[in-house]
Amino acid sequence: MARTGDRPARTPQVLKGMRDLLPQQMVLRQHVIGTFRRVFERYGFEPIETPVLEYLDVLTGKYGEDEKLIYHFQDRGGREVGLRYDLTVPLARFVATHRHELVFPFKRYHIEPVFRADRPQRGRYRQFWQCDVDIVGTASMLADAEVIMVWIDALSAVNMPNFVVHINHRKLLQSMAQVAGVPEAQAATIHRAIDKLAKIGRDGVHAEMVNHGIPPEAADRVLDLVALEGEPAEVLAELRRRLAGNQLAEEGIADLENLFRYLGELNADPAHYQLDLSLARGLDYYTGPVFEAMVKEPNIGSLGGAGRYDHLIGMFLGEDIPATGASLGLERIIDVIQELHLLPQPRTVSEVLVTVFSDEGLEASLSLVSQLRAGEVNAEIYLGERRDLRRQVQYADRKGIPLVAFLGPDEIAAGTVNLRVMASGEQVTVPVSAAAETIDRLLKQERSGDGAAGQ
Ligand code: AMP
Repeated sequence: MARTGDRPARTPQVLKGMRDLLPQQMVLRQHVIGTFRRVFERYGFEPIETPVLEYLDVLTGKYGEDEKLIYHFQDRGGREVGLRYDLTVPLARFVATHRHELVFPFKRYHIEPVFRADRPQRGRYRQFWQCDVDIVGTASMLADAEVIMVWIDALSAVNMPNFVVHINHRKLLQSMAQVAGVPEAQAATIHRAIDKLAKIGRDGVHAEMVNHGIPPEAADRVLDLVALEGEPAEVLAELRRRLAGNQLAEEGIADLENLFRYLGELNADPAHYQLDLSLARGLDYYTGPVFEAMVKEPNIGSLGGAGRYDHLIGMFLGEDIPATGASLGLERIIDVIQELHLLPQPRTVSEVLVTVFSDEGLEASLSLVSQLRAGEVNAEIYLGERRDLRRQVQYADRKGIPLVAFLGPDEIAAGTVNLRVMASGEQVTVPVSAAAETIDRLLKQERSGDGAAGQ
């Protein structure tokens, strides 16, 4: 490539926590997005879009202490604006804006980037994509069960092994705090501390609670309750005994009993969900069941977070509309897919490179590539100016194009094309009229791992 005389003032850089994605990364990404979209649509969720920027006051007052991670600035008209932090708060604003244009219960999916000025680390970016499904306009636990089913199907569809959806209820956490004698104003401290149980252990959480002024006995009582484990029905029965007479506990337990019943009736695989009384979830807006999708290996944090938020829409509308929803983090899921090789990872969308033998042969090559495209084959013609065949094959090899079509003088004279499978080196010569069909067959063989060109 030609050099220009000017040197750039400095090497161009990408902002911390943000990334460029190369074509070979995008191929896998698009595949995963397409898979999620198909699962979401199978349940009747419909797509929407909202702007990346919102008025700042749309975003503030919803996330608790995480609010400090919102990117915000003044736009050129002097308005205070913020980049969306998740897709849930924009959805709540959207429902308030379009209430009369929507059919309720309203089910939407939304797969787009969100922004958080977080400290970048493994699995933690400043721009990342969330894949959300939400159901607005029903308080029925059936909606929460559907959302969990979508997660189970979506994660199964990308071959995610050993994932578990942890399930808890905000009201249970609140009732535990009440029963343990923790003052109302400190309930949020309890949630935040319990959320760290897996990370810092019982002693760490106990210390954190006590540091925040919670009496040590109260902290112990809460920690004893969240440590209960086992079959959901048994744990809920035990909780009903221990939290007897507490109104919030009764509501939370009744919700979870319904939720687990619906999951059973929807045939959810019990290996993929469990009651986890220690799950708190950070965000302030949750009011009911909360969920988190986790994998044991690799240690990458949660793949998805979710829950019911019956008062969030009311913050925009002045009138509550119950809602529940779930958000999968695309980046972490893709990191796991790559690390564990869960899906085939083609490096390119191209299926065949049509080579150009010479100026005289160009017309035949162009005619073939057009014919292949008309036959829905992803076919590219070699565009380099120097046309030695070695260079063309090298191009296909470096890009990872699985097939190369050769049209030399002999093939052109005979009306045939020579197809080479790059992985195995096998070649077949077929009439040009049969090229698309043969390519289809060769690609299927390649993808099934068979590799033999056959005839
Ligand atoms: P949250 O909205 O915080 O409940 O996050 C939902 C999901 O988004 C998480 O389970 C992660 O998979 C993903 N996620 C959250 N924060 C980040 C981040 N900084 N970078 C990448 N993915 C994230």
